[in-house]
Amino acid sequence: MSKKKIAVIGGGPAGFMAAITAAANAKVDIYEKNIPLKTILYTGNGRCNLTNNISGFKELASHYPRGEKFLYSVFSRFGAEQTLEWFNSRGLKTYTQQDNRVFPATNKASTVRELMLREAEKRNVKIIGSKQYKAPLERYDAVIIATGGKNHAIAENSGHKITRLKPSLTALIAEESWIKGLAGVSVRNALVSTKAGKLAGDLLFTHRGLSGPVILDTSAYCAYLEPPYMLEINFAPGFEPNELKTNRSVSNILKNHIPKSLAINLLAANNILPGKAGSALSESEKKTVLKIMHETGVKIISREKEGEMVTAGGVELKNLNPVTMESKLVKNMYFCGEILDIDGLTGGFNLQVCWSTGYLAGLAAGDTL
Ligand SMILES: Cc1cc2nc3c(=O)[nH]c(=O)nc-3n(C[C@H](O)[C@H](O)[C@H](O)COP(=O)(O)OP(=O)(O)OC[C@H]3O[C@@H](n4cnc5c(N)ncnc54)[C@H](O)[C@@H]3O)c2cc1C
Repeated sequence: MSKKKIAVIGGGPAGFMAAITAAANAKVDIYEKNIPLKTILYTGNGRCNLTNNISGFKELASHYPRGEKFLYSVFSRFGAEQTLEWFNSRGLKTYTQQDNRVFPATNKASTVRELMLREAEKRNVKIIGSKQYKAPLERYDAVIIATGGKNHAIAENSGHKITRLKPSLTALIAEESWIKGLAGVSVRNALVSTKAGKLAGDLLFTHRGLSGPVILDTSAYCAYLEPPYMLEINFAPGFEPNELKTNRSVSNILKNHIPKSLAINLLAANNILPGKAGSALSESEKKTVLKIMHETGVKIISREKEGEMVTAGGVELKNLNPVTMESKLVKNMYFCGEILDIDGLTGGFNLQVCWSTGYLAGLAAGDTL
């Protein structure tokens, strides 16, 4: 019996996972218009945060502002545990940080890329490069589309609806002038509230606004909220008003909880002298200090342009089978990775979708189900 022929369009993490999996039984060609797996080299600041070590499929899926329910089925078949097993059994040594983020032991994204290239080669996956990237789909028994978050033409031309696309996991630009001069200053475990809910995590000031994991995640929940909108930041949930009873200067008291430069800027913006003793503050000044620490409002006026890590929106999920990733509209057409209307928070969740949906698409297309 002759082998099934499968075309994978897009040689990113999702396309490679699909190709390697399908190639257990089928003859697979990857069509890639750029350098194969180039995107992976930039992930995790060059370290590649390849997944997040969460075993329960529902808990894992709860880290996706879009796609959560669809992922129940996907992750119950191939979640973070199976992903780690997949990589570890192929020789990739990994370690898990305290926050559950998983990285290769080498701390190099190139190690993950090399492993994927090697596995593809072992299974005789052919990579067809730039000039030929318009794949002659009619020559194949099945096609897997894995063209990423910004290339939806094939999906659209084959009748699939693409939901509204928005940048996600972006830094945010703020209006407040007290932010000036704080670029590079960070706050551990801030609480950030928006209309979309409350998140905790590390926050980083930039030249024009805010970044850091808690802000990137906030931007994901607010991806469809058009600026301007307000954030409320609790810089120091542990700060107690009775800490102001001493004769130390108020900026020194706040320094126990937040960087001094931030304390000085916030106090100055609220007309409180940073050198004034805590015990000398009036009742209304004490209330202001409490508000500064627990409820600072920040007006977000736009997203940082071109800084997004993922695209929110993509191929509408209702026309896909979550067990196989096959289209319900076009037989033998499969989708995986960021092209889908699925996006996750920071922490390895976006690559996890690539591994999981790529694996299921490859398994089904290669008929190894
Ligand atoms: C700076 C940065 C850091 C990140 N860090 C992390 C991280 O640490 N952890 C994490 O989980 N996620 C991270 N992400 C997100 C993650 O990289 C993406 O979600 C992931 O790469 C998506 O994989 P994909 O295979 O679906 O698409 P892509 O990686 O975008 O790959 C798609 C491929 O298809 C090719 N292509 C497109 N159209 C065609 C066509 N018509 N014909 C042929 N080829 C085509 C493209 O050239 C590309 O190579 C990061 C993203 C960025 C930008």
